[in-house]
Amino acid sequence: MASLQGFGGNCRSDGFLFHPTSTADLHEVADLALQSGRKIALRGSARSYGDPAQAAEAFVLDLSQWNQILDWNPETGVLVAEPGVTLEQIWRLTLPDGYWPPVVSGTMRPTLAGALAMNIHGKNAADAGTLGEWVDRIDVWSPRGTHILLPDDPDFANVISGAGLLGVITQVTLRMKRVPSGEVDVKSLHAADWAGQFAAFAEEEGADYRVSWIDAFGQGRGHFHSAHYAEDGRKDRAQDLPSRILGLWPKAWVWPILRLLNTRGGMRSLNSVKALGAKFADNKVHRQGLVEFQFLLDYVPNWQRAYGADGLLQFQPFVPKDHAREVFQALLADAADARMEPFLAVMKRHRADKLNWLFSYALDGYSLALDFKVQPASGDQQKDLLRRMTERVLDAGGRFYFAKDSVLSPSEVQRYLGEATLARYHEAKTRLDPNGLFTSDLARRLGLEIRTP
Ligand SMILES: Cc1cc2nc3c(=O)[nH]c(=O)nc-3n(C[C@H](O)[C@H](O)[C@H](O)COP(=O)(O)OP(=O)(O)OC[C@H]3O[C@@H](n4cnc5c(N)ncnc54)[C@H](O)[C@@H]3O)c2cc1C
Repeated sequence: MASLQGFGGNCRSDGFLFHPTSTADLHEVADLALQSGRKIALRGSARSYGDPAQAAEAFVLDLSQWNQILDWNPETGVLVAEPGVTLEQIWRLTLPDGYWPPVVSGTMRPTLAGALAMNIHGKNAADAGTLGEWVDRIDVWSPRGTHILLPDDPDFANVISGAGLLGVITQVTLRMKRVPSGEVDVKSLHAADWAGQFAAFAEEEGADYRVSWIDAFGQGRGHFHSAHYAEDGRKDRAQDLPSRILGLWPKAWVWPILRLLNTRGGMRSLNSVKALGAKFADNKVHRQGLVEFQFLLDYVPNWQRAYGADGLLQFQPFVPKDHAREVFQALLADAADARMEPFLAVMKRHRADKLNWLFSYALDGYSLALDFKVQPASGDQQKDLLRRMTERVLDAGGRFYFAKDSVLSPSEVQRYLGEATLARYHEAKTRLDPNGLFTSDLARRLGLEIRTP
């Protein structure tokens, strides 16, 4: 038995861990699961914040060791890989040939299949959409056999985004993005308030990447960044993240220090210092390596431990553009009223999906990712706050993202997904996984587990 949790460390469960590296291994584990009446949960690098990559009492298949890149063609920019290959493995291979993954998350650790099961987005979401749009083929295993799924097959859009509940992605064919160099020109803008945040996103609309940090204690003030690929940048730039902060302090020292600051007062001060820094950086452009720009959160190893034993939870609503400002403002006002401000807040621009993904979260609007320290000592106060915030998002026609969720209830998910999507999920589930083998703690929490007939 292994005690498993997601990146946020806010809920643990015990499962039986397996490390399959072939379809033969999958057959064997599935036979064993069926004989012993156990369910199966799939797990990549466990970089989802909550509970989608674990299931209590189930067989949990850690697919991260099934991780060979099977083919890379620098002429066509097409890569074929096993499920456990990480975003890091991919850029390390392709960047010297002038290619970058078309969509990356704020960390390079996710596996390709884990990233597709959630259908990740990046700081270029408003242009590039989600990762699934860049996939030409997936091979998917279930106890009924292996299916080769191409984009015109409806199950392609069911399995990508399907949160690992419909089958195991065993192989992926991905189109990479050509880039002129390994560097980007990054522009900083200081946003004094919410109006400034939205103005910055509009002003920098043509940029290749856009993202903004928001001081959740500061009425929407923050630090916006846009980035353009540097046409004259270095192709051979060393991309490894530095092992020391400012060349002096080992990065491993950072999270214990952050932990000391991890109180409401400490975080208010830290956010104020950061907001002040944004004023000095206003309108300045600097050149950065792609890795450094994209994976800022990988700079500080184990930073999530700074949140303490109860962990953190991320609440990331996606809100249509016409309502985003009023909703984001209200969410942070709710948090301030409860004296439970999120310690980190990040905003991105999105567009509607081009494919009809099953558990789609993207829309023509904005997302606001909020990191909350889990506070069991507050009794129901934190839960009540998150319920209230969820209600606001749903009232505005907003959506949620299972990779970041730890709080939704079955009725909230029914409102977010709607009856048609739930019916589509049930149809695909009974067809692709008739024994209801695949599950997760998330599926159980959200009422998405299908009972075994
Ligand atoms: C610091 C940080 C920053 C992040 N930034 C972003 C961001 O900017 N944008 C974004 O979209 N996400 C972001 N994420 C979330 C992360 O990208 C996703 O949660 C991603 O799915 C993690 O991949 P993983 O390999 O760790 O998968 P896991 O978390 O282990 O699993 C995710 C899902 O994939 C399923 N799964 C795993 N392997 C398979 C398989 N072979 N076949 C089918 N299903 C499978 C699991 O059952 C689970 O449902 C961030 C996470 C962290 C920790």
